[in-house]
Amino acid sequence: MKNYYDYAASTPVSQYALEAMEPWEADNFANPSSAHQAGRKSYQAIQQAREIIADKIGALPSEIIFTSGASEANNLALKGVAFKHLDDKGHIITSEIEHKCILNTCAFLETIGFDVTYLSPDQNGRISPASLSAELKSNTILISIHHVNNELGTIQPIEEFGAIAFEHNIPFHTDAAQSFCKCDIDVDDMDIDMLSLSGHKIYGPKGIGALYVRDARDSGLVPLIHGGGQEAGLRGGTSPTPLIVGLAAAVKSYPIKSAPIEKQFLEVMSQFDFIRNGGEYVVPSTWSVTFHTNEEVKRFTSAYPWLISQGSACNALSNVASHVLTAIGMSEEVARRTYRISLPPYKFSEK
Ligand SMILES: *Cc1c(COP(=O)(O)O)cnc(C)c1O
Repeated sequence: MKNYYDYAASTPVSQYALEAMEPWEADNFANPSSAHQAGRKSYQAIQQAREIIADKIGALPSEIIFTSGASEANNLALKGVAFKHLDDKGHIITSEIEHKCILNTCAFLETIGFDVTYLSPDQNGRISPASLSAELKSNTILISIHHVNNELGTIQPIEEFGAIAFEHNIPFHTDAAQSFCKCDIDVDDMDIDMLSLSGHKIYGPKGIGALYVRDARDSGLVPLIHGGGQEAGLRGGTSPTPLIVGLAAAVKSYPIKSAPIEKQFLEVMSQFDFIRNGGEYVVPSTWSVTFHTNEEVKRFTSAYPWLISQGSACNALSNVASHVLTAIGMSEEVARRTYRISLPPYKFSEK
């Protein structure tokens, strides 16, 4: 797609993933829960996909629960834990700069009696481990902090959050929709108990994602969709074989090489006066830029009519400054000069 630099909002499906999906759309359509030979074939394709995804994050295949995407995975993680505590309720810690699907789930849980603390980021969008420690309560039932911010590209110190959670025996969930495949993740090394990921941010299809759940079958997580026992009983519904196979193929074919695009991008941007937000720890593909003046914004947008976002795609249709930019201390006026440019994602390795 010409002039498209909004890859943090969505990516195309890679050719490799498309080709992997094709045989499962019409030829091998059998229900993976069917006991006959064709059903077994679908089941095995799904199991293979589960292994590929589990491998990527150091998990077991049985710990991968397929969902419709990261929004559903986040809902399952938060409500699934909260619904275990419907009698005594409890306290949840998250941050002010989560994706809307986390924030709106937390807002809902507050309406039914749960207590939620929203940690504030610093001006770069980093959440400090010390602020997490300071907010722990004796009835904290869950910590949920994202890995990479979708608007700023900021990488959070999740291994430190994980260590704190582990030390206090509190489950730790992270929304990794913007980091999965782009950053190295090991759920054991990082003490992650649940992790959400999405297909359409990594060249897989839309409508598929997953929640990693440590010891899924014994987790006691309450399902949102009760059904025929699929996905370890945590997510009912006939498993979508093509989407699952496509997701795994996208994972397998990562990283996408896009270094030349970054070079061209830097050349374009060198003509303008702007600052990059997000500080020192950012993924290389997501650029939150604030132009110095409105004239500079006009000069940029008229010379380069790129398909980009102000804030994230989800905020773009409303006229208010994004909650992320506000949380890092930006005024409405500065937020209006701020754009998110996201390049084709590629793998980021810390030096
Ligand atoms: C895109 C995104 C989501 C939502 O993922 P879907 O698969 O579209 O539901 C959640 N969290 C973050 C950080 C995202 O970037």
